[in-house]
Amino acid sequence: MFGGAAGFYFLTQCDRTPGAQAPFDPEKKTVIVLGSGWGATSLLSTLDTKDYNVVVISPKNYFLFMPLLPSVAVGTLNPCSIIQPTQYITRHKSRNVSVIEAEATDVDPTNKTVTFTDNSEIKGATSSTSIKYNYPVNAVGAEVQTLNIPGVKEHAVFMKELQDAKRMQRGFMDCLETAAFPGQSPEEVVCLLHMVVVGGGPTGIELSGELHNFLEDDLKSWYLELAGKVKITLVEALPSVLPMFSKQLISYTKFTFKESKIDILTKTMVKEVKERSVVLQMPDKSIKEVPCGLVVWAAGNKGRKITQELMAKLPTEQTNRRGITVDDSLRMKGAEDIFSIGNCTATSYAPTAQVASQQGAYLARVLHQLAKKDRLEKELNKLESLDVEGDEEKARVQKEIAVTWSKISKIQPKRFHYSHQGTLAYIGLEKAIANLPFMNGNIASGGVATFLFWRSAYLSTLFLLRNRTLVATDWLKVKLFGRDLCIPWLYPSHYPHPPIWHSEFHLCPALVANS
Ligand code: FAD
Ligand code: MG
Repeated sequence: MFGGAAGFYFLTQCDRTPGAQAPFDPEKKTVIVLGSGWGATSLLSTLDTKDYNVVVISPKNYFLFMPLLPSVAVGTLNPCSIIQPTQYITRHKSRNVSVIEAEATDVDPTNKTVTFTDNSEIKGATSSTSIKYNYPVNAVGAEVQTLNIPGVKEHAVFMKELQDAKRMQRGFMDCLETAAFPGQSPEEVVCLLHMVVVGGGPTGIELSGELHNFLEDDLKSWYLELAGKVKITLVEALPSVLPMFSKQLISYTKFTFKESKIDILTKTMVKEVKERSVVLQMPDKSIKEVPCGLVVWAAGNKGRKITQELMAKLPTEQTNRRGITVDDSLRMKGAEDIFSIGNCTATSYAPTAQVASQQGAYLARVLHQLAKKDRLEKELNKLESLDVEGDEEKARVQKEIAVTWSKISKIQPKRFHYSHQGTLAYIGLEKAIANLPFMNGNIASGGVATFLFWRSAYLSTLFLLRNRTLVATDWLKVKLFGRDLCIPWLYPSHYPHPPIWHSEFHLCPALVANS
């Protein structure tokens, strides 16, 4: 027991105290990683920085573990538990990695530059610049697809960023408190307590399941009357939810949702989102306006502006509207020194974290091979430019040239191969579903044991011990004390500006006297 605790303490301290790093080396090529999501983080974890100078550019200086975002949205997990500062990974690399908090705005394949801008609140005198690249890696992911449906951007909450999860949590609690306002009419209460989740993929399903748990486990104790009136509806345009799962598991999910009193509307399209309602086109093509307090939009991805603009520069090769077309080694068609991984690409794989992270790790190996090839080519150049005299010496150099040539020609990156580890989704009521590859087939499983498997799989996929510990602690905390009902910093401030911490009033009197 004591040994275990000491070992754990030792590991945490190793993580906290990164060692010295080699400086940038002007002789090495530069890899510029755009993004700090699944693909980028997996690449950075695996990449050997002895080979390259590495620069990371991302508007967020952290990695967000999106699969657990729905858990943050209902207060099961603390937001900080599912983010990992990118520096926590890069500071442990052998060479210094520069992490820049900025948005890449342009990749120029002709001049081989990346331009980026600081879009944060506080900007310095310089807030936009360009740098030269040898290999840029586009790992900027995708943005939310609204299909230009009116009102989605204005009135629906997305489920992609930490801010979205917080907005949803605050919105949900606000609906509840507003419904409790004295004198609220019964119709208004029904409207406020109706939550609509759009999108029947894993995100929509997990979110509905989590919301239902929140109701059952916590709100029933604190909002006794209202909790029973909360209604959750899941809307999906396709004929079925969770198309990536087996029929058996889809039926199991539907059954569990029925038990949870969550309505599933399939073959139903959202036509408009209004402040207090959604307009739906029902399977029989009739139009129905359904009052609701909150709409969560978890339906689909589209390419980011930077991706679309880069593709537009290569109109002959880049014609897929879903994203960047890449070859078997993840090189962008038409600009072969640009690599692209994850959700910004259009491949035959599903846009999942599993694919993005395998691509990231694969690319790290490809880059390692390219560095090796570079080294050999330099050696070859040196040998070929040698001015040697004497037949014997000439023959020796010729032989060395031939050997180096043969080594270079043997360096052929293997094509990217995706190995599917299975599909998992949490469906509420402490149940999960899983389709796992086994031998040459698939095992389908659902229930409480699968839920425990789901939890352990997610824990092991988090990159750092720190996050594993925080997530596990949050789960324990919820078991013991329930979920957080209030998030104080989301409430509007009632204090006049400037903010209170600027006011003398709140300073310790001794400090004021000394200043
Ligand atoms: P992302 O992880 O989205 O990373 C993109 C990065 O690029 C971010 O760091 C972003 O800040 C940065 N960026 C954006 N614009 C710019 C710019 N202009 N310049 C520089 N950087 C930029 N997949 C699974 O396999 N299993 C799951 O259970 C699962 N659950 C999910 C749950 C939710 C709620 C969501 C939204 C997605 C889920 N996914 C899941 C999908 C998975 O998260 C994505 O497939 C994955 O994140 C894609 O990785 P990526 O690296 O391509 O993009
Ligand atoms: Mg700034």
